Amino acid sequence: AKGMGKGGWQRYQSDLAHAMVQRLEMRTQLTEAIEDEQFILQFQPIVEIAEQRVTGVEALVRWQHPTRGLLGPFHFVEAAEENGAIVGIGNWVMREALRQLAEWKAADPGTSLRYISVNVSPRQFRAADFVEQVHTALEQAGARPDWLLLEITESLVLKDAEKVIQDLRALRAMGVRIAIDDFGTGYSSLSYLRQMPVDVLKLDKSFIDDILTSRQQHALVDAIVTLAGNLDLTVVAEGIEEAGQRTALKTMGCHYGQGYHFAKPVWPAEIPALTGSAEPA
Ligand code: C2E
Ligand code: CA
Ligand code: CA
Ligand code: CA
Repeated sequence: AKGMGKGGWQRYQSDLAHAMVQRLEMRTQLTEAIEDEQFILQFQPIVEIAEQRVTGVEALVRWQHPTRGLLGPFHFVEAAEENGAIVGIGNWVMREALRQLAEWKAADPGTSLRYISVNVSPRQFRAADFVEQVHTALEQAGARPDWLLLEITESLVLKDAEKVIQDLRALRAMGVRIAIDDFGTGYSSLSYLRQMPVDVLKLDKSFIDDILTSRQQHALVDAIVTLAGNLDLTVVAEGIEEAGQRTALKTMGCHYGQGYHFAKPVWPAEIPALTGSAEPA
């Protein structure tokens, strides 16, 4: 690269080699990490915009790596998807998230928390026993199916549509709700989604970022919110960072939001302070 001296080039090469070794190491470590219980969850509130009330939380996985410290999903989810470890990790996340929600509800029967949102990777969803995994996780936690919102990606619904749709139907028949995560970043359209068995659209942060500065972007989000409402889909706006964005979304009739403006992802012990009681205990 430009301006890179001989020493720079060598350093670049050894950095590359180092990164490759780390990736290889990570693949074996990922599998062991499940047995060693090295994964841990943070939770980010999902807020009813008008009332500023926390009605749900999204479970976000982190890896307590033996030597590298606390790693966010950016560092390992892709590798885990590639080597299949994501199936075990994801099913652990679902069980642990439901267990945690049951614990919060038991500690405060009047909590405003109604559900937990869990990310499901395409590989995890496509596993032959996924519907059964969900069933078992609910049963083990003593959780009602409507406590669970599964976040899937647009690409999942577009590929192998038939088997996926069958499983989505089975899950919804159980009473589990389905969300399309990062909506707008893929290729699906609202008219296509209309035929899909889904309940919630999570509108990607990239749409929210410019609603205060771009009239076009504002109009686009406004149109999506209106159309989604007409299609009986619930919209969750992701990545709300400013009060102004919250106000604009509220005016558009968007009912739910998530983002640093309300709360960053936090450890389980911090959740009860963020969730009010729905009714006096
Ligand atoms: P995601 O599902 O879109 O989750 C939201 C991500 O955006 C989280 O990052 C969250 O910390 C971040 N975020 C939330 N609000 C804001 C905001 O206002 N501003 C900004 N800049 N960021 C915000 P995180 O925890 O690093 O997760 C990244 C991605 O990793 C997630 O994106 C999801 O795709 C994936 N992921 C997390 N947990 C799991 C899991 O258990 N299974 C699978 N398969 N994927 C997971
Ligand atoms: Ca998500
Ligand atoms: Ca998302
Ligand atoms: Ca995202």
